[in-house]
Amino acid sequence: VGSIAAYTAYKNKKLCFKPRVTDQAFVTLATDDVYCQGALVLGQSLRNNNTSRKLAVLITPEVSSGIRSVLRSVFDEVIEVDVLDSTDSVHLALMQRPELGVTFTKLHCWTLTHYSKCVFMDADTLVLCNVDELFDREEFSAAPDSGWPDCFNSGVFVFRPSLKTYNRLLQFAAEHGSFDGKGQGVRKEVQDSSHAITEYRGGDQGLLNSFFSNWATADIGKHLPFLYNLSSSSVYTYVPAFNHFGRDAKVVHFLGATKPWNYKYNLQTKRVTEDGTTSGSFNQLSFLALWWNIYSASILPLLEKLQKMQESE
Ligand code: UDP
Ligand code: MN
Repeated sequence: VGSIAAYTAYKNKKLCFKPRVTDQAFVTLATDDVYCQGALVLGQSLRNNNTSRKLAVLITPEVSSGIRSVLRSVFDEVIEVDVLDSTDSVHLALMQRPELGVTFTKLHCWTLTHYSKCVFMDADTLVLCNVDELFDREEFSAAPDSGWPDCFNSGVFVFRPSLKTYNRLLQFAAEHGSFDGKGQGVRKEVQDSSHAITEYRGGDQGLLNSFFSNWATADIGKHLPFLYNLSSSSVYTYVPAFNHFGRDAKVVHFLGATKPWNYKYNLQTKRVTEDGTTSGSFNQLSFLALWWNIYSASILPLLEKLQKMQESE
């Protein structure tokens, strides 16, 4: 046994295997099968770049069992969070704040206390290289938002799971709500049997900025470089900067209403087809093509395998 251990240690050293850090994780969120496509590509992009951290995805009961099994082949942990599991007072507060919707689910990441530190990443982000150095940062670290740089963008952030912080966040949410929830976020009309209700998405950014309100001024160490959360729109809003710095991009964030999975992709030419509604620049399209390359090379085969299994049942 001793010699096997010694041999393994020798081999690991020789092959430069990084030791796996089991108490730190990248965490994402997907509340339905559509957002799961994004989560899967993100998870695969972290794997492709040899992360030494665990990968965890938060899902809600809506996610189908088939997609869950696919998620399990990419992520170390698939964790179902159910808003209805919350305590009565929390649930009550949530019902009075319809603008919080998905936000509330995102906050669940603070309950992952079996990890000492995590990096949250939106399901519409993609890593372009190994970004494990993010774990050198402290809570709460995030990159500036391209629309309002005194606010951070909540698509990528470093945090420390803690039930104390989680409860303080919930209480804060119930008392103050979120300044970017209602009206500003993308609205989804959901048809109820009796009436149309409007489900608000977004809102987590406003809430988190109000809660971690000294982010802009207190500690520059908690400002992640913009390259760790490059909004795909910056490619054309500040072209010279993109041309100068863009090659060092580490994480792309496809924020906004049109997500990579909403585009069409030609499997033969490996190009994203530019339809009438797409005003993407060359670079934006190349980020989209990167997303689609990972999707078609690694995720589609898993989905096809799932489909075959379901058909033979
Ligand atoms: N999200 C989700 N389901 C939704 C909306 C959002 O799971 O219906 C999660 C997902 O991880 C997503 C994040 O919440 O990336 C933030 O939403 P989104 O990325 O759509 O907002 P944006 O970055 O465009 O402001
Ligand atoms: Mn996003």
